[in-house]
Amino acid sequence: MECKIAVISGDGIGPEIVREAKKVMDAVAAKYGHHITYTDVLMGGASIDVHGVPLTDQAIADCQAADAVLMGSIGGNTSTSPWYRLPADKRPEAGLLKLRKSLGLFANLRPASLYQELKSACPLRDEIIGDGFDLMIMRELTGGLYFGERKTVEENGVQKAYDTLTYDENEIRRIAKRGFEIAEKRRKKVTSVDKANVLDSSRLWRKVVEEVAKDYPEVALEHMLVDNCAMQLVKDPGQFDVILTENMFGDILSDEASMITGSIGMLPSASLNDTKFGLYEPSGGSAPDIAGQNIANPIATILSAAMMLRFSFDLDQEADAVEAAVQQVLTEGYRTRDILSEDAKQVTTSQMGDLIAERIK
Ligand code: NAD
Repeated sequence: MECKIAVISGDGIGPEIVREAKKVMDAVAAKYGHHITYTDVLMGGASIDVHGVPLTDQAIADCQAADAVLMGSIGGNTSTSPWYRLPADKRPEAGLLKLRKSLGLFANLRPASLYQELKSACPLRDEIIGDGFDLMIMRELTGGLYFGERKTVEENGVQKAYDTLTYDENEIRRIAKRGFEIAEKRRKKVTSVDKANVLDSSRLWRKVVEEVAKDYPEVALEHMLVDNCAMQLVKDPGQFDVILTENMFGDILSDEASMITGSIGMLPSASLNDTKFGLYEPSGGSAPDIAGQNIANPIATILSAAMMLRFSFDLDQEADAVEAAVQQVLTEGYRTRDILSEDAKQVTTSQMGDLIAERIK
């Protein structure tokens, strides 16, 4: 298969972790007979330094011309970096928001799973963890409260602020479809999370999700109120397969879910549009505190590449191979500094990439 990948290495640890993900992708291509071409694209601080803006039109065009985008992370130290003395629309993060919008990325997927080998990093008690958990949060990314009309006014000397939460049925339908499609590839259960006891937007959400569910008879659907879901995530995370939810609920629940896994350096993510195109990146940021030291954990980026193989290229076997290689390296006791435990073998960023790539070959 021909795979055209736009690569945004970005800032901080970005170039270090992306290099390792490419190493693993190259091992996959060699073993399974695929041909990958990479196009380097500047975004964030790296683009500001060269072009004065966090994202150029050419960068957007290069991403649009690719089948998928692999990204490290962007941004610097928000207190000390000169990038944060620029107006808000010229800062590194503005580039990412613009890119997501330009590419129509409305579905954000964040898996949260617990590796038995890293159980000690999980803040939950053993009896709660049980046999572990493996869930996927599917968050709507371009609608809802963060994109609704807002204003602050003064009425009779009192300040008043408005934010508007709006969803139309088409926005709900397209994300619900993606949620059910993903569930079909997993354990076939969708938990749709809303606040239908209070919000009209949630009642519409629930109605449309139920309509969509009829097209996926093999997938079980349950509804859960968002406050209950926040509790259930720390009480019994093993009950979840796919959690399908709107923008703000997903923002909060996905951070909660990543926290219970214990390590940000292990968590991939994907943002998808209504084609096979997607942007794949680690859930963490650019970690300026450890940049350039070859100690960052590249596994989140490597697992993001596995998601790319699965969702953009339909290469399930290859994605399984990457995930199995990560599992094997952890079982063999290799750890980067952030997930180090007493009896483990500490390795650098590049050694971790080598070890995973070797286990694919
Ligand atoms: P961060 O995720 O970069 O770092 C938080 C902590 O986690 C740090 O101690 C860091 O060393 C550690 N960490 C993160 N990734 C790691 C990895 N792969 N291996 C080992 N340790 C890792 O969050 P922050 O410090 O709040 O943000 C730093 C910069 O990243 C900011 O400019 C922020 O805006 C940006 N950011 C970018 C994205 C993105 O590109 N999508 C997302 C979040 C934050």
